[in-house]
Amino acid sequence: MAVLEILKYPHPTLKKRSKEVAQIDERIKRLIVDMAETMYEANGIGLAACQIGVPQRIIVLDVSPIDPQHSFFAMINPEIIFQEGEIDHEEGCLSVPDCFEKVKRREKIHVKGISPDGKEMEIAGEGVLAFALQHEIDHLNGVLILDRLSQLKREIYRNKLKKEKRKEEKV
Ligand SMILES: [Zn+2]
Repeated sequence: MAVLEILKYPHPTLKKRSKEVAQIDERIKRLIVDMAETMYEANGIGLAACQIGVPQRIIVLDVSPIDPQHSFFAMINPEIIFQEGEIDHEEGCLSVPDCFEKVKRREKIHVKGISPDGKEMEIAGEGVLAFALQHEIDHLNGVLILDRLSQLKREIYRNKLKKEKRKEEKV
């Protein structure tokens, strides 16, 4: 078990489409444990494998700090099979520091995938669970919250990063 480094924008792995998991072996199971530890250590409510440098379609979520009805789960090869409604939701990302912005999300979604013990699973989510699922599935498709902002807001964030980098270079 290990807490791993979370990749930050603009790391190229965050922009790639992650590959389907063909077989759930010991390596995948260990990876899921590491992902959970890394997510909890960072006080996140979700994490995609590509955020720790493994471009495979695996997500872990625990939205219980916000919605105690739901507890931890991991999902392999998640796929949205139903979506409904649209809402502006304010969210942040562990890979995009100091960015907290409103993005368009579906209000309700159904997702199907495979559990770590190889069983088919389906989750109907609304509220924070729906938003977190969409956020993590976005990661698997190489999409960051930055990609869902207006061009102006994206530019503002990029400029902020550049300024911070210059500051770092001075010291
Ligand atoms: Zn994220």
